[in-house]
Amino acid sequence: MTFESLGLHTSVIKALTEAGYTKPTGVQEQAIPAAIEGRDLLVSSQTGSGKTAAFMLPALHKFASEQQVAPAAAGKTPNQEMQASRSRGERPRFKPAQPKMLVLTPTRELALQVTTATDKYGSHMKRVKAISILGGMPYPKQMQLLAKNPEILVATPGRLIDHMESGKIDFSQLQILVLDEADRMLDMGFIDDIEKIVDATPESRQTMLFSATLDGVVGNMAKRITKNPMIIQI
Ligand code: AMP
Repeated sequence: MTFESLGLHTSVIKALTEAGYTKPTGVQEQAIPAAIEGRDLLVSSQTGSGKTAAFMLPALHKFASEQQVAPAAAGKTPNQEMQASRSRGERPRFKPAQPKMLVLTPTRELALQVTTATDKYGSHMKRVKAISILGGMPYPKQMQLLAKNPEILVATPGRLIDHMESGKIDFSQLQILVLDEADRMLDMGFIDDIEKIVDATPESRQTMLFSATLDGVVGNMAKRITKNPMIIQI
């Protein structure tokens, strides 16, 4: 099995070749074609199995294919709009970020790893920006990052809720939601936050849930938030 045979976009393949990946791992072999088709996924897999690429590669493939069909409109970025309104003497208004993809992780460390991996896998794409929204990071810094209107947000649930509630993020354009290490997020008591976040995203989204176990509380939540998911157990 090769990455080409999974159907990934050439810009993604290029980045994988540079990263020295020669063939997909087991979880990637199963998850990538199903995710490209748009299926929801419930994946039981451990850290080290290559799960980050299993959800990020099909997402980048989708965004690269969309860029090819419709190159980004030449509109102003939120930062440019703020500057323009300031120069017209208006009080600057913060335009909420409208991400296409959200990855929820239990910890800051995992969120940073996912963001770094995304930069690597997306290095040959025209524009795909991933940022991390983390507890403990200063708010002004996070506002600057959100003002760049990133396509991909990687976040721990608590801090994300703060930004959602203050109107800094609008999920109406969200296409893909990933819950990474869902069992750990639930163990850490994030269930209410996760439900609030999921409720703020469109019903039409694609949902991918990764967890060491798919039983019990995780399984119940998975049932509520996915539609006809493909179940992958590695
Ligand atoms: P993860 O399970 O996502 O934390 O990935 C574990 C490690 O495997 C990371 O260092 C990845 O860069 C690496 N990795 C993921 N997929 C592949 C692959 N297909 N070939 C080689 N290394 C990989």
